[in-house]
Amino acid sequence: MARIDLKNLAHSYFPDPKSDEDYALRRMEHVWEDGGAYALLGPSGCGKTTLLNIISGLLAPSEGQVLFDGKDVTNLAPEERNIAQVFQFPVIYDTMTVYENLAFPLRNRGVDPKRVDERVREIAEMLDLTGKLKQKARGLGADEKQTISLGRGLVRDDVSAILFDEPLTVIDPHLKWVLRRKLKEIHNKLRPTMVYVTHDQVEALTFADKVVVMYGGKVVQLGTPQELFENPAHTFVGYFIGSPGMNILPCNIDAGAAWIDGKRIALSDHHMNAISKASGPIELGIRPEFLRIDTDNSTEGDDGIEVNIIKVEDLGQYKIATTRFGNAELKVKIGEDQQIHGQSGILRFAPKWTKLYADSQLVA
Ligand code: ATP
Repeated sequence: MARIDLKNLAHSYFPDPKSDEDYALRRMEHVWEDGGAYALLGPSGCGKTTLLNIISGLLAPSEGQVLFDGKDVTNLAPEERNIAQVFQFPVIYDTMTVYENLAFPLRNRGVDPKRVDERVREIAEMLDLTGKLKQKARGLGADEKQTISLGRGLVRDDVSAILFDEPLTVIDPHLKWVLRRKLKEIHNKLRPTMVYVTHDQVEALTFADKVVVMYGGKVVQLGTPQELFENPAHTFVGYFIGSPGMNILPCNIDAGAAWIDGKRIALSDHHMNAISKASGPIELGIRPEFLRIDTDNSTEGDDGIEVNIIKVEDLGQYKIATTRFGNAELKVKIGEDQQIHGQSGILRFAPKWTKLYADSQLVA
């Protein structure tokens, strides 16, 4: 499998782009390691498919290069790039058996029949298709057909990378969960370079060891699921990852603290040093998991803010309280064992998990 280098990559669908707004992809410079499982995650229109199509060779970038293991493939056609691709909808032959469908990409390349048989059985076993190998694909359901498509993408062991474009969209929710886990297991075992496009954060976080978060044609963060959760590099990542996402509020900085609607939130020296060098609108970010609310006769102090509790939603394993002071609204995640009394409380911020953003970028 290959390492993928994206060098100064940009793409516009306009023949004569005038500004950044005319670019579907803006200046990308990344290295995706050999054997990595990368998820491309972002909202509709952020440029995921454009990037995937440039990597697969279906689209020529307006600027920049794509390298596989140091070799420039920018001008190579898809069939010359040696990649496997799995799409949203099954791409299989209805008249063939499941075995023949899985064997096709190998037979097509003249692989030794003994090796074809070994590999087909190995992949079928991993995807729970062994019992169906002799059946014609025509009679199978949509889920099974898409599982065969996944198998066809995984069956070759000589490809540079396997590209998945929202492959579980048509799959039933329960099976989706099973297949996501299986793909992860297969990746751990075979270590192919995988690039997986999705707009579903759960899918990205369970599948990938590195998540590439895209927003407005740019990569705003490339990191492990834990990094995205604990240290979102951009306010969009904070908001997009998590359920619910990060609380992000405009604030002023003064006298060693952040001020929101006249209320003081203590900051560390680290925050203050970093923010003194930053420019642009400042926002404070804190995840609902890292806020604490006390409703048991606590009094407002240096490290707390009195808030009204607008609503409490019980989601089974935890509750989400929506709290408000002035115009600011913050969500707080509450464990099932904590009781909420009354309609007000003291909100406490853990300094370690309080983040500051300048112009949407993480500062501290
Ligand atoms: P989705 O999740 O909806 O598929 P995406 O993240 O894959 O979205 P792209 O399909 O890559 O996003 O689109 C990025 C931008 O490029 C969007 O603004 C889209 O409207 C534009 N775009 C995509 N394809 C074309 C095209 N063939 N011609 C013109 N503009 C295009």
